[in-house]
Amino acid sequence: MNARSESVATPVNFYRPRDFARTPEMRSPEYVQMSTAAAITLGLVQGSMHRTACTHCLNLLVTYPEGCRANCSYCGLARHREEESAYADRNFIRVDWPTARYDDVIERVRNRNDHGAFERMCISMITHPESGEDTVTLLDRWVAEVPDVPVSILSNPTTMRYADMEDLRTRGADIFTVALDAVTPEIFEQTRGKTVDSPHRWDRYWRALEWAAEIFGPEKFGAHLICGMGETERDMMEICERIRDMGGHNHMFAFFPERGSLMEDRDPVPRDHWRRVQLGRFLIDFAGARVADMRFDAAGRITDFGLESAELDALIETGTPFRTSGCPGKADDTVSACNRPYGDSSPADIFSFPFALNEKDVRVVRRQIAGEPVGTFDFDADD
Ligand code: SF4
Repeated sequence: MNARSESVATPVNFYRPRDFARTPEMRSPEYVQMSTAAAITLGLVQGSMHRTACTHCLNLLVTYPEGCRANCSYCGLARHREEESAYADRNFIRVDWPTARYDDVIERVRNRNDHGAFERMCISMITHPESGEDTVTLLDRWVAEVPDVPVSILSNPTTMRYADMEDLRTRGADIFTVALDAVTPEIFEQTRGKTVDSPHRWDRYWRALEWAAEIFGPEKFGAHLICGMGETERDMMEICERIRDMGGHNHMFAFFPERGSLMEDRDPVPRDHWRRVQLGRFLIDFAGARVADMRFDAAGRITDFGLESAELDALIETGTPFRTSGCPGKADDTVSACNRPYGDSSPADIFSFPFALNEKDVRVVRRQIAGEPVGTFDFDADD
């Protein structure tokens, strides 16, 4: 542990990353970390988000001073950052994750400090010996005290057995998700395996997906997939179809070089690549599209989605395929409650829209699909 992370004995109620000279000792299940968007929505942090007032998912993360024992190369929480920063001070999917007492979080939601914004809660596990047991404790309390808000589990297959997943289902977990992230065995090994001194294994992650299909059933499990780590668009479509055929859903993240990660010097995924993958994923997840009906060029880029152009055009016009993909809310299964505002791009150049697109947004997206180097904030987007 470095000088900065030597803990302070005084218990805190709420901690924002880098708030104190020394990071307090905070452990789950007494404490949880949450996304900045969730902290703003709960009124724990003053602030606003570009074009959206809240997130509809309370994303929670189990937390320990020892941190995650894995070392995934694109992740801000990875073990290799131990020398540089304390766990509770690290950024994750582009944002800070403040720490709060779970008691306080539950009380604030029961008192509707979120004004009813949360349509889902999610517990993100990490690779840590206590993560499994504490996830059960957090789930039990939530199901008992906030039963009207369903829970997703973002699992850690490396430390889970079949019985652990059954137990989570029995205790009331609604959706079980596997953060596969990398979509080929080679990229998985290079970014999450022995190559980076990390314990994750491709086959174990697929076994967890197969178990989730058995235990949680259709529509109640899924995978996180990161677009832009060296896979082709065809690779991504084939994995999306494989998970859809098992009955699951695909939750997409545009690769963004995370500050402090081993991949912080990599370029973000190109916009046209990302937009085609968003569209293809949506068609596979919600419109029964098949990879066999799609056409790809020699570089594995999608050249035809296998749909009549009028039909495709009408779908693009809705904007829905370009919204953040994730676990659904109360209203529409194709719209994610987990809208993760600016979790994979800056607000100045939106990749996953955390809100419904307006006409101007759709025009920008169309130009991006056509390969034009325009961003959502480009003032010339209207020309
Ligand atoms: S999509 Fe969101 S709510 Fe669902 S498992 Fe992933 S982080 Fe959790």
